[in-house]
Amino acid sequence: MVLLDGKAISSQIRAELAEETAQRRAQGLKVPHLAAILVGNDGPSETYVSSKVKTCQEIGFESTLLRFDHSISEAALLAEIQKVNENPSIDGLIVQVPLPAHISVDKVMETISPAKDVDGFHPINVGKTVKNLPTFLPATPYGILMLLKRYEIETQGKHCVIIGRSQIVGTPMSILMARNEYPGNSTVTLTHSKTRDLDGICRQADILIAAIGRPGMVGPEMVKQGAVVIDVGINRIEDSSKKSGFRLVGDVDFDRVAPLCSYITPVPGGVGLMTIAGLMRNTLKAARKDFYP
Ligand code: NAD
Repeated sequence: MVLLDGKAISSQIRAELAEETAQRRAQGLKVPHLAAILVGNDGPSETYVSSKVKTCQEIGFESTLLRFDHSISEAALLAEIQKVNENPSIDGLIVQVPLPAHISVDKVMETISPAKDVDGFHPINVGKTVKNLPTFLPATPYGILMLLKRYEIETQGKHCVIIGRSQIVGTPMSILMARNEYPGNSTVTLTHSKTRDLDGICRQADILIAAIGRPGMVGPEMVKQGAVVIDVGINRIEDSSKKSGFRLVGDVDFDRVAPLCSYITPVPGGVGLMTIAGLMRNTLKAARKDFYP
């Protein structure tokens, strides 16, 4: 069994990004600038946003964190997004989800300029992804593709089973794994909470990608010997031995599943770090104006 080391690969990618950023600075070109909007005080969101800002600092990007109170109206938030859209110094914008219930995530995503949509959630960018036109790929699926690529994992003709059909992970992942390129060319099955015989379908997977949000749900009865297992889940479970009172676990029961796998991602240290790497690469592409000249 080989551990897919998101920590090592993401640090390689950060080094590459830092180098290109330093070259851009030396050539007098614009340094990538990421803005993040955080609404309210959700614990995990605070952690995610601060690690994105920290990564920007580490690789030499500029970053701006815009914080708003939980009570901000939808109209006021959309106006703030519009200001970022019109600010030429900012290349990429992310709005951390979840948002308070009175704010429509769809309206927020549609208000972000497609040219600054480094999370790849705007319908125009989703459409381009489906049509296999060059654009910002959603950061988590993008990070998973980079991981598969750097470990040279064969995907062509393989049966890839994805658990979870979210707009940010499962659904775009299914489209990317079916594309006629590498990584891709897999035969994809997208499963979800209404799927019958989930265990049986998962047992057919050469590549199993779990994006569910249920700690340890994928057990050995769902995994074929030799499968590649990608665990997207990040779940907090109580742990009184930790200072924070919790620890992070994935959707896969790692200890029981790992012995069956050819490759597996750990949690933490797997897909989470690759997601940040994907976001940073998208931000550099936004600054370079790769997709929206
Ligand atoms: P979501 O909550 O939007 O969707 C969960 C999906 O799981 C749904 O499509 C649902 O149909 C499916 N599901 C739920 N219960 C099921 C069951 N019993 N059987 C089969 N399918 C079931 O999830 P999301 O936003 O994609 O997040 C999933 C997990 O991934 C969460 O733990 C989240 O924290 C994590 N996540 C991690 C990263 C990362 O960078 N590693 C990024 C995004 C999300």
